[in-house]
Amino acid sequence: MKSKELPLRKCIACGQMLPKDQLFRLVKLQGQVELDLTYKAQSRGAYICRNKDCIELAQKKKSLNRAFKGVVNNEIIDKLFMELEDGR
Ligand SMILES: [Zn+2]
Repeated sequence: MKSKELPLRKCIACGQMLPKDQLFRLVKLQGQVELDLTYKAQSRGAYICRNKDCIELAQKKKSLNRAFKGVVNNEIIDKLFMELEDGR
């Protein structure tokens, strides 16, 4: 049996559609972009692949600024890298 299918979401860096468990979810809460590890925050979200290349690409292309229509603090990029390292 196939495992339960997850909805597909688009990575803001590479543009690929992937099951959301392979992506980080980012949301803007009270003006701050945060990592939403629960995938449940009630806010508009943006998704990014759980890999170093896409995080670096997003940083380079300022994809987050575009996704959230404003300047996004680089701290969130550091947070994503930290989260990646924790997960391995
Ligand atoms: Zn990607």
